[in-house]
Amino acid sequence: MSKPSKVVRTTCPYCGVGCGVKVTTTEQGSYAVSGDPLHPANFGRLCTKGRALGDTLDSSMRLGFAQINGEPVRWNKATAYVANRFQKIIKQHGPDAIAFYVSGQLLTEDYYVANKLIKGFIGSNNIDTNSRLCMSSPAVAQKKAFGSDTVPVSYCDLEKSDLVVLVGSNLAWCHPVLFQRLNAAKAERPDLKIIVIDPRVTATSRLADYHLAIKSGTDLALFNGLLCYLVDQGLVDKKYFSPQNCQQTIAAARSDFQSVEALAKLIAIDKNELLSFFQLFATNEKVVSVFSQGINQSTMGCDQASAIINCHLITNRIGRPGMGPLAITGQPNAMGGREVGGMATSLAAHLAIEDSGARQLVGDFWQSDKLNSQPGKTAGEIFDAIDAGKIKAVWIMATNPLATMPNVNKIKAALNRCPLVVVSESFATSDTLEYADVIFPAAPWGEKSGTVTNGERRISRQRAFMPAFQQSQRDWWIICQVARAMGFGKAFGYQHESEIFAEYAALTEKAFESTGSFSLAALTKIDRKRYDSLMPFQWPQHQPEQLSFGDVRVFANGKFHTDNGRPNMVPVSFQSRQKSMSNGAQWLNSSSSSLSAQSGHGLLTLNSGRSRDHWHTMTRTQIAERLNLHTAEPFVWINPDDARQFALRNNEFVQLKNDFGESLRKIKLSYQVKRGELFSPMHWSLSNHSGGSLNQLVGDDCDPESKQPAFKQALVAANPIELPGQAMFLTRHFISSMPTKYWARQKVPQGYLFYLADTLPVENLFNRLTVLLQQNNSSETQMHHFMSDENNERHLSLIATEKTRLVGFLTACASHIKLDSSWLTQALTEATVSHASAATFTLRPSQNQNGGSPLCLCVNVNREQIRQAAAQTNELQQICELTGAGKACGSCLGDLALEIAT
Ligand code: SF4
Repeated sequence: MSKPSKVVRTTCPYCGVGCGVKVTTTEQGSYAVSGDPLHPANFGRLCTKGRALGDTLDSSMRLGFAQINGEPVRWNKATAYVANRFQKIIKQHGPDAIAFYVSGQLLTEDYYVANKLIKGFIGSNNIDTNSRLCMSSPAVAQKKAFGSDTVPVSYCDLEKSDLVVLVGSNLAWCHPVLFQRLNAAKAERPDLKIIVIDPRVTATSRLADYHLAIKSGTDLALFNGLLCYLVDQGLVDKKYFSPQNCQQTIAAARSDFQSVEALAKLIAIDKNELLSFFQLFATNEKVVSVFSQGINQSTMGCDQASAIINCHLITNRIGRPGMGPLAITGQPNAMGGREVGGMATSLAAHLAIEDSGARQLVGDFWQSDKLNSQPGKTAGEIFDAIDAGKIKAVWIMATNPLATMPNVNKIKAALNRCPLVVVSESFATSDTLEYADVIFPAAPWGEKSGTVTNGERRISRQRAFMPAFQQSQRDWWIICQVARAMGFGKAFGYQHESEIFAEYAALTEKAFESTGSFSLAALTKIDRKRYDSLMPFQWPQHQPEQLSFGDVRVFANGKFHTDNGRPNMVPVSFQSRQKSMSNGAQWLNSSSSSLSAQSGHGLLTLNSGRSRDHWHTMTRTQIAERLNLHTAEPFVWINPDDARQFALRNNEFVQLKNDFGESLRKIKLSYQVKRGELFSPMHWSLSNHSGGSLNQLVGDDCDPESKQPAFKQALVAANPIELPGQAMFLTRHFISSMPTKYWARQKVPQGYLFYLADTLPVENLFNRLTVLLQQNNSSETQMHHFMSDENNERHLSLIATEKTRLVGFLTACASHIKLDSSWLTQALTEATVSHASAATFTLRPSQNQNGGSPLCLCVNVNREQIRQAAAQTNELQQICELTGAGKACGSCLGDLALEIAT
């Protein structure tokens, strides 16, 4: 008789929506993942990434043992080694010679003990997180406006609003379940209007009522214009503000708004479109403004966020149902990290480092006198200080700075120079491991347990449902082992993550007296049993022992967390920021043609972002083969008119280059990007693509207050590169890099598919790759060669078999290979291959190169099928009915709309 299945409720490890996930473990040991219908973030929905979580549990790319200088060692040896090296460095150079670079992928309990160790017991504030790259600008803007880093909106407000403004946010791809909720609300209530403000045409903009394709980087001027319009319409509610605060904010906004016509010209949209936006905002009281990386990752990130918040404050559209600003994060626990003080600029529980009373409170609570009054170094500053020889040891946890930090080549140089680099990591595919002296194998999602806070202040349990791989360990355990080896055992003697959570809750209760913002007082006495069964809830929870599970609204009573209880509007001005900026930012005032005239060789603004089915540096999502189908290579999108000007052709290659680095990418022509701009996905790095991380082209410019890097403002020269030989190469064996100028690796079932190009002529490229295929197979392997001429192009192909089993495939020609890649992505799963049919296949390039890549993963509907349906009707709903696409998770709806429009 089979045992009953075990069901574990946990949380998705990817974006800040923080969806609840149910994992069912069968007796056979397989794991079935579905959305948790009880979780208030998603009510059972999941996107493509969440639905594929069960496919990412493969252990072939996992780290299983602690290592020192590449040698496997026991845990106690590794932790003692790190503790010993830390102590020597502290003795010789002081505590500020140590830094932790941590991550929004850590659980709150991990984050709490990391922060406690370095701030409380090592005595340095040099801890910062990759959330610096994502949410530090809105965090600063919220603190200035509300007196605390508090998100004032819940997801249900999207459904209660009459107008949703999405600014710098491709919600359909980056926060798909929120987008699904919004779409469902609109389907029920068609009067709900959606406006997208984004320079690019995206899957999100295609489903919106209005799309303002403003010039990149002009959002601040736009929202200041809106503020002036709201004032002129008499819609202001000044009761919360001092006259001075009002006057200064409006005066600053006026400097950007002479007239609707002038503003429309500056931001490069039609004046009627601009006026319509103003009128919609003015006439709909229930407005939610959702903003994300298009706002945050800018040299003006804080001011842009403030300008959006100002429009809500001045109209009193905050703290009430269906209204307010919502800065939504791309990380599962960016907010949890900020709550425990996992940033260089704050203490735990929303307390301020510069506040001596707060330091005393935390020091007393931790029973430590080591708290340091100096703010620590932010992410970029940590690597600068390593480069300058001031920081001698860095512990990197759950993040991959070699791919994700700006100016990647500088990060490489710094880590090369650093005497001690410790990396806690789960996957062997992280680029950063190459620079590690010590590697701690960390247990990832599925094997670790703790809490996370999503984008609406909702704390949920992430629960383990499978045993840890080999000797992997939970991050909090690793940190506590090092702390104990350093002699801090009394403060780090936890036996279970629930004890850490209870301690942290107790600290928030004490801090609440001074912050008035953040408290988990209801949970200070939580024990393991209660922790294990804890259901999702929103903070604050400041009533002792009275946990409430309903939606918790903040600022409903008009009381904010400032000293006088009033909110602050922050005077911000696009014009004055423009004046104060260095030459590096003057692109905002330039047209693409004048830029290219200055440079002489095609200077363009490089924008980066997510593709639909990948997350961050793909260490997890690339394992799920179906997630690799939507975007197999990191193309760079360019407007066809620019491409013509710079002699760039579709599916050929461009060298992107500037003072910081260079990257070779394949070209995709698209009117989705404006002239003068480029777009490329952020996920690929040297571990899976010859072009490396896009961030090697991003310089050190950042917002002066938040220190969030300006990832979306890199200027690059774009030069065509002739690569006369292109190839596709399928193998059952992992190959870390290829001997060609260009390559991209895609994981497919039972193997890997490479897209390749080189300066070698086709025949030479083919011969080189044939040798590689031979080397990667046994002497039993038989090679079957084929040659075909199609449209005056010669294709050279070979099939490698062992008996009747396909073990490899290679084809090369002198231009983009138009083979139907859907065959290749499945070929290795076929038990036998008929040489004859394979040969026929290799001789027949696909009529439609994109036909095979699915748009809807749930029911496997590809572009060609959508196009055929679109020939019958251009109604999205009917196309979904005809094809079955878009009816399950809904992640593809925006893509379907894009496809219909093209
Ligand atoms: Fe996970 Fe975000 Fe998708 Fe939800 S929307 S399933 S949290 S990636």
